[in-house]
Amino acid sequence: MGPEGWAILLTKILDARDGNGPERYPVDVVKLALEYSAQRFPETPIKRVDADDLDGFEGALVPGEKRPTAWGILYNNNQRPERARFTVAHELGHYLLHREEYPDGFWCGEDVVSRREGEGVEKEADTFAAYLLMPLHDFRARIHPDAKPTIDDLSDCAIRYGVSLTAAVLRWLEYTNRRSLFIVSNDDYAIWAKASGPAFRSGRFIRTRNTMYELPPASLVRTRPDDLDMKVGVKQPAGVWFDEPAEEMCVTSTRHELDMTLLHLGTDSARTWHQDADAADVFDRMS
Ligand SMILES: [Zn+2]
Repeated sequence: MGPEGWAILLTKILDARDGNGPERYPVDVVKLALEYSAQRFPETPIKRVDADDLDGFEGALVPGEKRPTAWGILYNNNQRPERARFTVAHELGHYLLHREEYPDGFWCGEDVVSRREGEGVEKEADTFAAYLLMPLHDFRARIHPDAKPTIDDLSDCAIRYGVSLTAAVLRWLEYTNRRSLFIVSNDDYAIWAKASGPAFRSGRFIRTRNTMYELPPASLVRTRPDDLDMKVGVKQPAGVWFDEPAEEMCVTSTRHELDMTLLHLGTDSARTWHQDADAADVFDRMS
């Protein structure tokens, strides 16, 4: 079973147990890890889930000494609860998907857990965590795939699921029909950015790997007008971000000293942009 399959299986169990009651969300992933592993894999259960000083790592899945072994999940004790929840779900993903192939377990860093930028087994563990904590049927009922959410709408979902705003935005970007982008920046430069599928296919994305992307001088992040609620945002004309207008909204995470920008592009031109995309250019992007 793959990451989506495991997450859907556990989602069905939780839905059957809690229905749509107040105890359903956020997912109590610590309890789930302990109880489900004990019941389904009594020979090799997860015996403990603990916060610890992990010296730069976000989380770990560690085996015991005897074979067949019990397992432990550790998460960095400097994480806020919403980050810790995603980390524990990520490690539960490694346990369900990868423990037999990787008997020595896993030590996982921030880039893979928080930004969902890992590859291979790390990507699978992230996918599992996102699907488990933010099931599509529930998320879509809150924000319709055609809807144009504000940052507050997405924050409400983050609170419901007990995850970071970033985690909720990334999950929404996976299923939205809209052309939208999310950009995390610091000191006028993008650290990373993610486009929805429709935005990406229309050629609207921002490259951050091995390159420096300077935010547009007229962007909200850089102009910070006093008379404007940045979370409500502003309509930017063509030429500020792309060769088309964009609705831009922004929030600053003071704790992490990061700016987060949400861009909504228009709906009408999506098909046109897609058709106009040059095949060679698409190939370049995909590779
Ligand atoms: Zn990992």
